[in-house]
Order: sequence, then C-alpha cells, then structure tokens
Amino acid sequence: MKGLIEKLENCIPKSCILEQEPMSKHTTFRIGGPADYLLEPENVEQLLAVREILQEAGIPCFLLGNGSNLLVSDEGYRGAILKVGSRMSTITVEGNRLITGAGALMSQVAKAAWEHGLTGVEFASGIPGTIGGGITMNAGAYGGELRQVVTRVQVVTPQGEIRELTNEAMKFGYRHSIVKEQPLIVTEVELELQPGDKEQIKNLMDDLATRRREKQPLEYPSAGSTFKRPEGYFAGELIMKADLRGFQMGGARVSDKHCGFVVNMGGATAADVRAVIQAVQSRVWDCFQVKLEPEVIFLGFS
Ligand SMILES: Cc1cc2nc3c(=O)[nH]c(=O)nc-3n(C[C@H](O)[C@H](O)[C@H](O)COP(=O)(O)OP(=O)(O)OC[C@H]3O[C@@H](n4cnc5c(N)ncnc54)[C@H](O)[C@@H]3O)c2cc1C
Repeated sequence: MKGLIEKLENCIPKSCILEQEPMSKHTTFRIGGPADYLLEPENVEQLLAVREILQEAGIPCFLLGNGSNLLVSDEGYRGAILKVGSRMSTITVEGNRLITGAGALMSQVAKAAWEHGLTGVEFASGIPGTIGGGITMNAGAYGGELRQVVTRVQVVTPQGEIRELTNEAMKFGYRHSIVKEQPLIVTEVELELQPGDKEQIKNLMDDLATRRREKQPLEYPSAGSTFKRPEGYFAGELIMKADLRGFQMGGARVSDKHCGFVVNMGGATAADVRAVIQAVQSRVWDCFQVKLEPEVIFLGFS
C-alpha cells in the first residue's frame, strides 16, 4: 500500500517490517500462507504508533505471540500481523515479583523464576508460547494455570490507552481471559511467586518435561492439544474410543502417541488440518454426542 511502509519506517526499524511473510515460519504447526505484513515492535511506544497507522489505513490486524496455538490458512492473512515476541521480552525480578515483557517465552519466565529461587510457575516451563499468549489463553498444565500467579497485566486498549488490569479484571477461566472477549494487547505481566528451593524447582521442571516427552508427540509440529477439554471427558480419550488414532488426511494426522493432538506429518496444509479437525468433531459427535470445541485458533479462513 502506497506510503504505508514509509510511515511504518518512521516508527519501527526496517528490520521489524516484513512483507508477504510466510506464516509457516511463525507457527509451531509450520503451516500458513503469507501475511501481507508482519510487524514486530520493540516496545510499547512503537506498538502504539504502528497500531495507529494500521487503524488509520483501515488495515486489519492480528496479534501474534509464538504462534503455538494457531492455525493460519494456506491463503495466509490479508492484513498485518503484529508480533509481540522476543523484542519485547525483558524479565526483571523484584523480591517475589517477576515482571516480564509479554513477548518472553513461558520457558524463559520459568527459568528466570528458578534462577531467583522462586516457585509457582514451573508448570509453564514446557508450554511453548509467550507469556502474552499464555495470559490470553490462561495457559495451564499439570494442575497449574497462569491465573494462579498473575497479579497485574498491562494492556493496550483499542483506543490506544495503556491500562493496568488486576487478576480479577482479567476474567480468567478455562483457556479464557478478557483478552479473548476484547481486542486488548498484553504488553507486560507481573507474577507473584513464592520463595522456594532451587533444586526442588529444577527437579519439578525436569519431571514435567519428561512427562511431556513421554506422552506428547513433540517430534512432530503441532499446536498442542487441538481441542478444549469437554466437561466430564478427555478429548484424547474420546477420539481414541471413536477409533480415530492415526486418522490421516493429506499430511495431517491424529497423533498415534496422543489422540488429543493433530500433528503435521510433513507437508500438511491448513486445509488438511482443518479437514481432520472437522472429521474428528463429527465422528465424536456421532459416537458420543459430545461437542469438541477447538482450542486452536483459526486465522485467515473464510
Ligand atoms: C507442543 C505443545 C504443547 C502445548 N502445551 C500446552 C499446555 O500444556 N497448556 C496450554 O495451556 N497450552 C499448551 N499449548 C498451546 C500454546 O502453547 C498455548 O496456548 C500458549 O499460551 C499460546 O501462546 P503463544 O504466544 O504461542 O500464542 P499465539 O499462538 O501466538 O496466540 C494465541 C492467542 O493469543 C493471542 N495473543 C498472543 N499474544 C498476545 C498478546 N501479547 N496480547 C494479546 N493477545 C495475544 C493471539 O491473538 C491468539 O488469539 C501447547 C502447544 C504446543 C505446540
């Protein structure tokens, strides 16, 4: 678009502006066609400026963390992807409080907590997303959830205001937060942790990593659990009982190791993944009358 790049270059470094960027490079599924623009601000000021330019130009905008819960269509995204990633990932620790840029990976946050002898966020060490994405999804594992440790979340509102939200205001629920209801951008997160024994913290993280490696198909690209846990059931178990272990369409397959994961066996398209998801939903419904709702977020599909 004429003049747009010049305007963007006045706000963020050239190296943070990508055009026709394949989203397969930015998702853990390793799938997704090109986004018109992928912009990665280095701080909140740049983020605000970029968003204003996009709003003025009427360009749709999607917030990206580490792309670990995302399926982008083969056609890609007509608009701008705003990435809050490693350029906004500074972590500081003050006493029991850990303050982190939203772009820090949860593994880095857990490691920083361990280094400072703080316990409470070990559960997040193996979740391959940013803390911003984690807050959006209220990410959790092995009995822990971010809502248990979050005390403050800094967000940018659609009007361009910077606001500080309390834990309560975040409306956390199962894989849910206010960020899924309103177009807020998470920019900074504060966690309150407890003093702990460094060795015990490390042992717990190692133990959880082993459990993940044993149970999950980490050897194939995926977006983690494809479906939310339906009340009273486990998605993976229902899928297995519906005889869908190893069910494959194109390059997308219901994992043999964990039926709750749809994996990319190599060369899967977004259409393949979507087709497997729909087939699984329909078969599980036919067998058990249970509605499986995707946890994975779809982008760029009509
Ligand atoms: C192998 C594997 C294992 C997984 N295990 C788990 C698990 O144990 N528990 C679990 O909960 N999840 C798990 N996941 C899923 C995923 O890692 C989490 O949902 C994670 O929180 C997503 O973070 P992300 O940064 O990758 O977000 P993205 O995938 O980039 O985005 C997810 C959503 O968050 C929004 N978003 C991202 N960043 C921001 C921001 N800064 N401000 C506003 N909105 C934002 C996006 O717009 C999108 O709607 C797993 C995924 C994989 C691939």
